[in-house]
Parts: sequence; C-alpha cells; structure tokens
Amino acid sequence: MAATLIDGKAFAAKVRGQVSEHVARLKEEHGITPGLAVVLVGEDPASQVYVRSKGKQTVEVGMNSFEHKLDVDTSEADLLALIDQLNSDPAVHGILVQLPLPGHLNEDLVINSIAPEKDVDGFHISNVGLLGTGQKSMVPCTPLGCLMMLRDHHGSLSGMDAVVIGRSNIVGKPMAQLLLGDSCTVTIAHSRTKDLPDVVRRADIVVAAVGRPEMVPGDWIKEGATVIDVGINRIDAPEKGEGKTRLVGDVHFDSAAARAGAITPVPGGVGPMTIACLLANTVTACCRANNLAEPE
Ligand code: NDP
Repeated sequence: MAATLIDGKAFAAKVRGQVSEHVARLKEEHGITPGLAVVLVGEDPASQVYVRSKGKQTVEVGMNSFEHKLDVDTSEADLLALIDQLNSDPAVHGILVQLPLPGHLNEDLVINSIAPEKDVDGFHISNVGLLGTGQKSMVPCTPLGCLMMLRDHHGSLSGMDAVVIGRSNIVGKPMAQLLLGDSCTVTIAHSRTKDLPDVVRRADIVVAAVGRPEMVPGDWIKEGATVIDVGINRIDAPEKGEGKTRLVGDVHFDSAAARAGAITPVPGGVGPMTIACLLANTVTACCRANNLAEPE
C-alpha cells in the first residue's frame, strides 16, 4: 500500500479528548453541563445501535444524555410536542432525531421543528441556509468529520480539485459546501453524472458517499489523491465462515490505496468521526446558548 492511512478512530479519540476537557471547564468555571437529547422512534436495529453508541459516548465525555425512545406508531403531534418540550428545556443544548423516521412521519417537518440553535445534526433548513451562505451554523457531523481529517492531512485545501460522489442532504451537499468554503474547486457527482471515472480521475480529493459497496475502483483515482470513503456497506464474507459478513466502503480499498496519497479505511475512518463531531457540536451549542467562547 502506497497511501498514508488516515486513522479516523485515533482522530476521533483526540476530538473526544478535547470535548471532555471543554466539558470539564464548563462545569468547573461556569457550573454548566452540556446536554444532548436523542429521540428514537421505532425499533430499527441499526438506529438502535447508533443511539446506544451516541448515548454511551455522550456520558463518557461528561455530558448529560437524555434518551427518548418512542413507539413506532407515535403520532406526529406527540413527536412535535416532545421536540417543543426539548426546545424549551435549558438543560438540553443539542437535539438529535434519529433518521430514518417511520413512513407516517414527515421528516422535513420534524427536523424543521427543532430549534436551529439546538440542531446539532445541522439538518434544519436555517442551518442549511447559513452553511450555504458561509455564515456561522451548525454543521452536519459526517461532512464536518471529513473536513477535519482533510484539513489535518493537508493544512490548506485552497485551490484543490474535489469531487464529491453523492448529493444527499445529509452528506453529499453539505460536504460540497464545506469544501467550497475551504476554496476547493468542487464537482458534485451523482447517479446521472456522465463518465464518472473521468470526473473522479481529475480530483485531488475524492469523497465517496454513495452507499454502493466498493463501486470506486483504484484506477479511477488520480496518483497521489486523497480519498475519503464515507460509505458503510455490509457484504457477505464467506472467507470468514458461513453466513459471516464484513463492512466495506464505497471505494475498493486495496486498489485505491495503491494509487492514492492518503485514504480513510472502512471501518475506522469517517464513522468514528461522525459521533465525535456530534459531541463537539453539542459543546458548541452549549457555549453559544451561554454566550461563552466556542471551541476552535
Ligand atoms: P443516499 O442514498 O441518500 O445518497 C446516495 C447518493 O449516491 C445519491 O446522491 C445518488 O445519486 C448517488 N449515487 C447512487 N448510485 C450512484 C452511481 N452509480 N454513481 C454515482 N452516484 C450514485 O446516501 P447517504 O448520503 O445517506 O449515504 C451514503 C453512504 O454513506 C451510505 O453508505 C451510508 O451508509 C454512508 N453514511 C455513513 C456515515 C458515517 O458516519 N460514516 C453517515 C451517513 C451515511 P442520485 O441523487 O442521483 O440518486
């Protein structure tokens, strides 16, 4: 492997350490404990795992975790009433509604009912608009984690050609906004993009957020490019035994690592950074709510 491995697990541990220190200072100097409320509707197994992990890490950095688990058939009115209550609770600085929601609930309506200053996922329409216009906002956690790793590896990203594969509201679009904010020349590719291999071959930075196992082969990667693999895909792994599975990204790791200058692994790359950024966003929200200096 020629590429430098960008170790998201180690980076996330460092971010959590900084969050812990900030939380300790907020408690000691101001008597404030940041609080994160997570709302889960239904029993989607993957969502349950994420929510458990978020709650555990929230407590580990010294913050208060408020978990609200609602029945799958919870009405929209009841969910909105809970969000209203959390919006006005001074002990709650961040609110996260775990997506996807069951089909009878309007996701846009629910997300936009969160107070924008408590919207630590950065999905509220106000935060999307603030990010798009380069103003202070809450930044979505997964793209923020990707940006932090890129800045850490490169220093300045100014003038680099970046391709983001995927245009979802939660990853692709905010990722592109962040790269633009750092003065990259940004291309957003998607399922209708013509000649995707050619588009990717021009990029100094490739962010893959598609949800298709190993769809980006090494020969699409420009020699020396930096590859950030957001994808998390579970595939069969008969080599590990019958019925076994393993996680892979959207990039074919071995062939891409042979050409890239740097690459994130899956697992252990973008994934751990996402929750670390959620914790960091909660501290930021807490500081803003109390007119205190924000973490850098
Ligand atoms: P979405 O399904 O919402 O978006 C996927 C995007 O990929 C769409 O814009 C789609 O294009 C595009 N796409 C699909 N097929 C192709 C193709 N053949 N060529 C080019 N583009 C294509 O996914 P998300 O953004 O929510 O997630 C993407 C991946 O990231 C998933 O694997 C998910 O599990 C992972 N993820 C990881 C996180 C982490 O913490 N590491 C957090 C969030 C997501 P179009 O719009 O035209 O349909």
